[in-house]
Amino acid sequence: MLRKLYPGGKKKAFNITYDDGVYQDVRFVMLMNKYGLKGTFNLNSALMEQEFTWQHESGLRIRRLPAELALHLYDGHEVASHSLTHPYMEGMGEEHIMYELGHDKWQLEQLFGREVTGFAVPFDYFSDLIADCAKRLGFEYARCSEERYSYQPPENYYHWAAGTYHIMPGFRDFVEGFFHTDEELALCQIVGHSYDLDLGSMWDEMENILSRVAESGDIASMTNAELVRYLRAIRAAEISDKYIRNSSDTELWFELEGKIIALKAYEEIII
Ligand SMILES: [Zn+2]
Repeated sequence: MLRKLYPGGKKKAFNITYDDGVYQDVRFVMLMNKYGLKGTFNLNSALMEQEFTWQHESGLRIRRLPAELALHLYDGHEVASHSLTHPYMEGMGEEHIMYELGHDKWQLEQLFGREVTGFAVPFDYFSDLIADCAKRLGFEYARCSEERYSYQPPENYYHWAAGTYHIMPGFRDFVEGFFHTDEELALCQIVGHSYDLDLGSMWDEMENILSRVAESGDIASMTNAELVRYLRAIRAAEISDKYIRNSSDTELWFELEGKIIALKAYEEIII
C-alpha cells in the first residue's frame, strides 16, 4: 500500500497563518521559534507605520508593527501579502486590485529582501477576479477567509479556504481531531491574528498546541508557500503499480508497505 507523506516522511502538516502584522506577533513568533515551528504572516506594507484604528471593547488597542521591528522578526517564517492598505475589495476594479496586490508584493520584497509568493485577502470578500489578479502577479496561492473544518489540503491554490479560525467555536474539536486523524496528507491550518490570543486569553492553550505539534514526531511544520510547492509536486508524481516517478525539483516522500521512501528530484523508483 502506498501513502503520500509530507517532507521528512511526516504523515501530517501543521500551519498557522496570521494577518495584519501586529505587536502581538513578537510574542507569538518567539513562541513558534521556541518550538522550532514555522508560520505565515500576512502584512500590509502601507500600514506598517500606522495604528489599527479598531479598539476592542475590552480596551485592547491593536497596533501594527513598524518596518524596523518587522524586518528580522519573521526570519525563518513566510512573509506574504495582505494587500497594500487592507481595503474591502467588493466592487473594486481590476486596476485597483492589481495595484493593491502588486505594489504590496513589490514593497514587501524590497523591505525583506526575499521573494513574496503568497497572498491572503483582507476581510471576508473574495472573488475570481482577485484570484486571477494574484495569479497574474506571480503569487503562487491566494488564501480567502472561508473556513472548511477539513484536514484535506487545498485543491485550488488560488481559492484556499482555511481549516479554522481560533476564535471560532469549532476550533478545539478541529485541532483535537487533527492529532487523531489518519487521513492521507492531513493538514491542520489555523488562521487568525495574534491579538486574538490576547482577546481570548488563549496564549497558554496555543502554547500547548504548539508543544504537542513539536513533540509529535509525525507532523511537519510548513508555511503556506512550502505547502503549495510540495502539494503541487507530490500531486504531479506519476504513480503506477510498477514505479513512482518524481517529475519535480522537490524531494518527495512516500510510505510503501510500511517503509518510508524519499524520492529525490526527477528520480524514479521501481516498486
Ligand atoms: Zn487583516
